[in-house]
Amino acid sequence: MAEKRDYYEVLGVDKSATADQIKTAYRKLAMKWHPDRNPDNPEAKDKFSEISEAYEVLSNEEKRARYDQFGHQGINFGPGGFDFGRDFSHFQDVDLGDILGSIFGGGGGFGGFGGFGDFFGGSRRQQTDPNAPQRGEDMSIEMQIDFDEALFGSERTLELKLPEQCSHCKGTGAAEGSSRVTCKTCGGKGVVIGGGGIFQLRQTCPTCHGARTMVEKPCKHCDGTGHVRTPKKIALRIPKGVDTGSRLRLSGKGGGGLRGGPAGDLLVVINVRKSNIFEREGMMLYVDVPVSPFLAALGGDLDIPTPEGTATVRLSAGTPNGKVLRLRGKGAPDIHSGQSGDLFARIVFDVPVNLSSAQKKQLEEFEASLKLENYASQKEFKNNVKTFYAHKEVLQKNK
Ligand SMILES: [Zn+2]
Ligand SMILES: [Zn+2]
Repeated sequence: MAEKRDYYEVLGVDKSATADQIKTAYRKLAMKWHPDRNPDNPEAKDKFSEISEAYEVLSNEEKRARYDQFGHQGINFGPGGFDFGRDFSHFQDVDLGDILGSIFGGGGGFGGFGGFGDFFGGSRRQQTDPNAPQRGEDMSIEMQIDFDEALFGSERTLELKLPEQCSHCKGTGAAEGSSRVTCKTCGGKGVVIGGGGIFQLRQTCPTCHGARTMVEKPCKHCDGTGHVRTPKKIALRIPKGVDTGSRLRLSGKGGGGLRGGPAGDLLVVINVRKSNIFEREGMMLYVDVPVSPFLAALGGDLDIPTPEGTATVRLSAGTPNGKVLRLRGKGAPDIHSGQSGDLFARIVFDVPVNLSSAQKKQLEEFEASLKLENYASQKEFKNNVKTFYAHKEVLQKNK
């Protein structure tokens, strides 16, 4: 068997790719290589399988972390033993509309989340026994939070419409008085043999999607799916130190299970809005502080905003524009340890404007009193310029 390719390479994305970038790359490749679209290309099935396997790992927070740390080993044989390496065939057998719908939320009608962004993700488990309890879908949402919420943590209530077992049919999808019957398309096999010529393609039955049974009279409350979208309120505690890309997993808060199965998980992917004061890079915070050039010349106290409150720093006389002051432990907190990084405050001269005529007069007198010795940079700069022109003259004379 050929060596397994790197999952990031398979999807053609960077190791640092965001969930969105991975999703987009997968969607493009899945469209291109889906076996239904390439009936005459036997290579497509393998390609599609490879792409689906890479996506299944990289789109899952835990699996991706494990893969990043241990590579393919971590996925198939690692401690804790993920078993999904076994079988990806369920991915390549569902039809294109179905797979894209279930993964990207396009066909499922997950509308109406207001400001919370879209669902993406969601896994589908193939059920061998249609009457066995079925675990609910894992769902992901992207959530925008404010910069200060990320620093200090906050409490939020998510209002989502999540799939829950239909109470009228108890999740069977069959109308009252009817029940599930053996699927008429596949005769209860769950698969149909398609294609032609040399290559025969075993495909999941398009009617029952492999469940082997079907509903003759669909429950009108859930259109035969067994699920209804139910508005739910979910309390979410955002820990201090979260950053864009942080993923918060709420176990059992995803889609409801069927027939007594447990609920799936809800994964909240954080997206932090920009601040108009600070820039953040992990635990480091950066702030530009406007300062009067006259205060900088004289020296004096300067107030610098930090997450904990204003810190007063003593500027020495003659502080230059652009000087960066480092305030240790005044940065952003680490989500795990709670310890803070450093804050870097940069002095940015704020040149006074809208001067009165009296102020202008004072400044003109003051400016006239200054000598080259009063300026640290100008003296050197003027000397350098003088040397430059002197050289130029010599060179032109020698021509
Ligand atoms: Zn129902
Ligand atoms: Zn069937």
